[in-house]
Amino acid sequence: MTTIEPRSVWGARPTRGTSHLGSTRGVKAHYTGGRVDPATLTDHAKCRAAVRAIQNQHMDANGWNDIGYSMVACDHAVMIGRGPHVLPAANGPGLNSGHYAILVLVGTSGVTTMTDNMKRNFHAARDYLRQHGAAGTEIKRHRDGYSTDCPGANVSAWVTSGAKLPNGTSPTPEPADEPTKEKDMDYGSFGLSQASARNIPGNAWVSVPMDTEYADPYGNHSGTGESILIGEPSQYVLEAAVELAGVPAGTPVSLRTAEFRYDNSATPPVDRMEEAGWEHTVPLPESGRVQFSAVGHVQDGRKLRVQVYVHGDGTNYKINGARLKYLAQR
Ligand SMILES: [Zn+2]
Ligand SMILES: [Zn+2]
Repeated sequence: MTTIEPRSVWGARPTRGTSHLGSTRGVKAHYTGGRVDPATLTDHAKCRAAVRAIQNQHMDANGWNDIGYSMVACDHAVMIGRGPHVLPAANGPGLNSGHYAILVLVGTSGVTTMTDNMKRNFHAARDYLRQHGAAGTEIKRHRDGYSTDCPGANVSAWVTSGAKLPNGTSPTPEPADEPTKEKDMDYGSFGLSQASARNIPGNAWVSVPMDTEYADPYGNHSGTGESILIGEPSQYVLEAAVELAGVPAGTPVSLRTAEFRYDNSATPPVDRMEEAGWEHTVPLPESGRVQFSAVGHVQDGRKLRVQVYVHGDGTNYKINGARLKYLAQR
């Protein structure tokens, strides 16, 4: 029987806030990405200290509300991180609402190989999330759908070969509790400031960048990126306004949504466009600002972007600003 340690036992700091998660399709496995002291294999106090250090890193350096993981599995126990029904932060922008995040306490040096107990404890963490957090049956790796080495070669191979218990059997997952009734809503609001104005070519589709996050609770956007919603499959409504400069009034301008997918089989990895929505074309008003709204469905693992097309061959076209917001339901 695996010990499930509450936050108070491993010495967690209080969370700064939580976002509700009704259910997930399963869990994703992680490793620390750094050195794990071999003393953690014999002294569980060292495991707790390592998890406290990770929480400090996530809260103080990353600026997250809490440790990014839902649960942590070491050789001795399972420690509750954010826990069930709370959105984790560790799976990558936009990829947190589909899976809980389980950290296995191995890394790139020191302890790099899962022990038999860690395998059992990983499944205990997953069962806990199924029973208390309506987790689905999937077991995936952080690197599935996201550019990272995590969870390292050893944990990766374990997951892809069926995440078997030490006796070679595939565990029967505990039945899940009922998903909470409400659907999870996801929303975001972004802008492009004039400081990040960008020159664009004519007669070409250009994805609109965003450098300002007014609201991004589900972490779909990062930096000056163009992606505003990353599937977990969801229905969305979206409104966008794009301000152009250097384009004569009356010039036809088109807007559309487009879905991209990260392809890490290419060298270097690229975002490939997979599907575009209906185009909305208007003559550019004197204000230089065009607006549109769209309703659509983001497929699993795809990134939603807004694109603009200026029908002309001028040389001084510029996206001067943008505002964009969406509401999505998983
Ligand atoms: Zn990870
Ligand atoms: Zn331990």
